[in-house]
Amino acid sequence: MPENKDEHFMRAALEEAMKAVDKQEVPIGAVVVCNDIIIGRAHNLTETLNDPTAHAEMQAITAATGWLGGKYLIDCTVYVTIEPCAMCAGALGWSQAGRLVYGAGDIKKGYTLINGSLLHPKTVVKSGVLARECGGLLTKFFKSKRKITPPVPTKGGSDMPPVPPEGGSEDIKLF
Ligand SMILES: [Zn+2]
Repeated sequence: MPENKDEHFMRAALEEAMKAVDKQEVPIGAVVVCNDIIIGRAHNLTETLNDPTAHAEMQAITAATGWLGGKYLIDCTVYVTIEPCAMCAGALGWSQAGRLVYGAGDIKKGYTLINGSLLHPKTVVKSGVLARECGGLLTKFFKSKRKITPPVPTKGGSDMPPVPPEGGSEDIKLF
């Protein structure tokens, strides 16, 4: 598959990520593509649904398998703006996704930190597609969050800086 096609579909995943920003959700988006058609698209909804498993990939997989009427994504490519976590990589493994394409790496929660593959052995992986845009969106989000984060109350009134929220910009690898 030519590079520009991967970038084209990664832009669709980025559009999903931007929808998450509007909802104050961590901006991660995913699309599932089969025969050049997007059959599933989703963004992170953990806050909206009060569900820690509501990651973009999980919902995009559910949407795509629902569209296909089958539980496997063997002939599909899953595009996600940030490297999947172990949970999502496991789900991608169960779906037997043909290809996984992701943008920026996640050096704190990414599935590549885990020894052994969580993905299906036949899944072809490509990383670093539009990594700067994908990671930049996340970095910007966490920066704006820090600005509105009230200082952490401390004993004795010491001037400790606020603790940054988890998953800060330092965790994203732009390749
Ligand atoms: Zn995940």
